[in-house]
Amino acid sequence: MYIDSHCHLDFPQLRERLPEILARMQENDVQQALCVSVNLDDWPGLMSLVDAQPRLWASVGVHPDYEDVAEPTVADLVAKARSHPRVVAIGETGLDYYRLEGNLEWQRERFRVHIRAARETGLPLIIHTRAASEDTLRIMAEEGAAEVGGVMHCFTESQAVADAAIAMNFMISLSGIVTFKSARDLHALAVNLPLDRLLIETDSPYLAPVPYRGKTNEPGFVRHVAEHIATLRGCTAQAIGDATTANFHRLFARTAPSV
Ligand SMILES: [Zn+2]
Ligand SMILES: [Zn+2]
Repeated sequence: MYIDSHCHLDFPQLRERLPEILARMQENDVQQALCVSVNLDDWPGLMSLVDAQPRLWASVGVHPDYEDVAEPTVADLVAKARSHPRVVAIGETGLDYYRLEGNLEWQRERFRVHIRAARETGLPLIIHTRAASEDTLRIMAEEGAAEVGGVMHCFTESQAVADAAIAMNFMISLSGIVTFKSARDLHALAVNLPLDRLLIETDSPYLAPVPYRGKTNEPGFVRHVAEHIATLRGCTAQAIGDATTANFHRLFARTAPSV
């Protein structure tokens, strides 16, 4: 079986097709999915979706790309995380210097707030980093992110960045990008990563894996991510499924082993 460690099922293009999407998860032996929060305004809607579906989990956090939204405090995040047993992580948070320019001190401050909330709740972090790995690792170290650990999601950075994150108690999650022919550095990384630190994800609705590249992504397609990593590593897709499923439950300790 497989678990999609990062998706956005509450986004309109997925939410309106939810029954079909859940059926496709079942067909592909994708047993669970973690629906990741991107801002607090949409969080009640995300929780209502997860509440009705025992195979789905949620996080709470504000994505670094969202500029014109309510800024979360540590207390906001802690209260929301404690308000619901299906919240299993803090995020997604992190830094993104690719999408936004100018003085991004607010982004770094928001990231620190999330790490503090994670430490206060004991929940792991879901970290997004793009064109900002040096500052991301520095702030993780300064704020003591290793105490709770977490996942570097949709990972596209270097082996050195992966090693530094692993040394801070983090896992590395690979998305459909690993199925793209051009992603050669990521192919090497997929082979080298320790199996007990690997997660798989879709980041749906974005980044559909081959053979669905360019289409709307969904959690059922995470199977293709596992199959591609298995081909690169010379093992079975089931071995990747088993390892990443065990890793998911170890990291997100609030998730039940089976539903
Ligand atoms: Zn992200
Ligand atoms: Zn995301």
